[in-house]
Amino acid sequence: MNKRRLGRTNLQISIIGFGGTWISEIDTPTAIGVIKSAFELGINYFDTARWDGDSEEKIGHALKDTRDQCIIATKTGSRTKKESLDDLQKSLQLLQTNNVDIIQLHGIDDEKTLTKAISTNGVLQTCKEAQRKKLTKFIGITGHKPQILTKAIKTGEFDTVLVPLNAITRQAEEELLPTAKDLDVGVLAMKSLSAKTSNLITCTYQPSLSLVSDEPELKNLLGQNSNEMVHSLLRYNLSKDIASTITGLRSISEVKTASTAGASYQGLTTTEQKRFKFTLGNYCRDCGLCMPCPEKINIPAVLHFYTFYSVYGLKNWAKKLYTGLDIKSDRCIKCGMCQPKCPYTLPIEHMLQKAHKTLNLSETSK
Ligand code: SF4
Ligand code: SF4
Repeated sequence: MNKRRLGRTNLQISIIGFGGTWISEIDTPTAIGVIKSAFELGINYFDTARWDGDSEEKIGHALKDTRDQCIIATKTGSRTKKESLDDLQKSLQLLQTNNVDIIQLHGIDDEKTLTKAISTNGVLQTCKEAQRKKLTKFIGITGHKPQILTKAIKTGEFDTVLVPLNAITRQAEEELLPTAKDLDVGVLAMKSLSAKTSNLITCTYQPSLSLVSDEPELKNLLGQNSNEMVHSLLRYNLSKDIASTITGLRSISEVKTASTAGASYQGLTTTEQKRFKFTLGNYCRDCGLCMPCPEKINIPAVLHFYTFYSVYGLKNWAKKLYTGLDIKSDRCIKCGMCQPKCPYTLPIEHMLQKAHKTLNLSETSK
């Protein structure tokens, strides 16, 4: 497995990282087998979180004899000094280690949360104190909104950033990745295999937010079976300026597929470069700043699905996803509240109308 330098931490980490979210859903002996197999196949970066059920405990158990050969990153979702200190102590105990390599601020998705987190009473102070006491080597930040994470890393306080990135979730490529490169902040990609973002939680068509599914259009874009699809998605991420793509793994066969993709990666082929080339135009970045809508329309979700349709050609899938939304965009009363808040000056009302006409099954079947 190739390794890359994780920005200014100078840690050399495997280009495929182990995402610890899903192991909390499987039994302990199986989870330990999965984690150990990842290590044996060359994965040395393990990402977990205080919020991820018993993931830390399982990782701690599985890696206790090889701790010195692994990079362990965990996260605290607490927002105050006291709570986050309790979190870190609990994490160290469960991970069976005296220190973690990286403690990350978990889910910093809006400006208010960021401001609080980096204030004199915020969680960042706990992390710095922990760093002085050698309980963590580095401090990172995670979230779903690249523009918030860009602001965060510009403060100079963070060594790493963890952000969603995949072939059809490209917002991070615009500003965050170049800024991180300039500042030598290590970038880790998450949600490598899923279109899910924090703004899509109202969609009832959740299972198919996975990019590795039987949707014919996704197969055309990514490959004819799940193995090919996973390889395509991981390879796309590896072609970007990131250190590692973190993938949630819950079986030994998933570990094998992901690690093979990492071990064989030598850059994208010409065919892949062509396949992944899209012109995004003036699209919705899913930043959520236009929310809330008084009619409860999930504006970013609607426009996100419209992008799947109009940019990536995922037409039927986009329609199914739109159908899964409880509230459609024809509910818009043109109140004028959302549009002035869009930093990308998108004509939201017009786009919502167009999206409804295009994506609503009853409209398109007329
Ligand atoms: S203009 Fe329409 S979409 Fe925008 S906030 Fe008002 S009702 Fe919601
Ligand atoms: S419409 Fe504009 S403000 Fe709303 S989520 Fe998209 S980019 Fe952000």
